[in-house]
Amino acid sequence: MTTPLVEMDGDEMTRILWSMIKEELLEPYIDLKTEYYDLGLEHRNETDDQVTLDSAEAARKYGVAVKCATITPNAARMTEYNLKEMWKSPNGTIRAALDGTVFRAPIIVKGIEPCVRNWEKPITLARHAYGDVYKNTEIKVPGAGKAELVFTAEDGTQMRETIHHFTGAGILQGIHNTEESITSFAKACFNFALDTKQDLWFATKDTISKKYDHTFKDIFQEIYDAEYKERFEAAGIEYFYTLIDDAVARVMKAKGGFIWACKNYDGDVMSDMVSSAFGSLAMMTSVLVSPNGAYEYEAAHGTVQRHYYKYLKGEETSTNSVATIFAWTGALRKRGELDGNQELMNFADRLEKATTQTIEEGKMTRDLALITSLQDVTVLNSADFIKAIRKTFEALS
Ligand code: NAP
Ligand code: MG
Repeated sequence: MTTPLVEMDGDEMTRILWSMIKEELLEPYIDLKTEYYDLGLEHRNETDDQVTLDSAEAARKYGVAVKCATITPNAARMTEYNLKEMWKSPNGTIRAALDGTVFRAPIIVKGIEPCVRNWEKPITLARHAYGDVYKNTEIKVPGAGKAELVFTAEDGTQMRETIHHFTGAGILQGIHNTEESITSFAKACFNFALDTKQDLWFATKDTISKKYDHTFKDIFQEIYDAEYKERFEAAGIEYFYTLIDDAVARVMKAKGGFIWACKNYDGDVMSDMVSSAFGSLAMMTSVLVSPNGAYEYEAAHGTVQRHYYKYLKGEETSTNSVATIFAWTGALRKRGELDGNQELMNFADRLEKATTQTIEEGKMTRDLALITSLQDVTVLNSADFIKAIRKTFEALS
């Protein structure tokens, strides 16, 4: 390796898996270079969360980061870790700093079949992570009256629309988005499609929402025509816009192998549908792509707290490390790509192959054993599963 990865360590069971993965699957085979940031809750608390900001800054500087799952503190964690403050979600902080879009894709193996029979390839979901109903203002209307939408410009001029003449009680909601955020969302989607050589689908309800949703559609189209059309054609991929209900119908009939870009709410709902239909959160990768070209790879699941408490009691755990391994391989491959380091890219490919092959040979963790279509599988504990992958990896060389 020539340039270090930004390594963001985390919490609980995934922190345990993190060091096992490094020790068994990475350090023996590559000259691993990282700039290490400990985002474990204790250290975030000690540094007043400065470490999270520093790690995001480093991700921006170096371009590629790999992150372990971290605890987002709640009331129970305040006492458990004796926290000075209820620190914000590190993922939220990093997302805000990198202004990114999150792409989630299932890891497909034979024996863990999606519920939707015709899905042969992964469907990557790209969720816009700013605004709309997640930053709303609401009123519970008590009775008859007129509701208006008013915008006051900085020079005092106003725009005004009547929303509704209420004759009785009701409800009201105001939402917004910004051209800047939609633009960076669009660019992240187009760049990711080019990067992964997959078609990009985008859908909204522009026939009904003629200004709000239509603006999303227009911004995507303008950016595509001005900056991406030629590159898409050269790469042999397509940008395709349709209505959200049409998209849902087409996704169910499709073979997969494309990126589905969704507005914030659609992405929230559809990513849970797509991920559960593909099998398991523990088989889902997640990458945050910033419009300035920085990438942060992680697993889609949390710190697997329940397993960690068993681990602390000395009980055996069977925690699936696949998504965390793929976070590492994703980051190493991207680092290799940016540095023109083919060997590093080959290593990432081989480690991924060893991981899926191990499962396909019937060696897996308990969560997968419960849903596999394979017969006579061997359920391994957390450490033995990683060791089994190492064995497969060595046999592949
Ligand atoms: P979780 O860690 O995703 O785990 C929920 C349940 O899903 C587990 O109890 C386990 O089910 C199953 N599971 C998830 N990942 C698994 C894996 N790799 N292998 C096997 N089973 C797996 O969610 P949580 O326990 O609700 O949250 C724990 C902490 O994670 C919270 O503090 C939360 O803030 C944090 N979190 C962090 C991130 C992130 O950093 N990206 C994301 C989400 C949550 P069984 O118990 O039935 O085996
Ligand atoms: Mg959700």
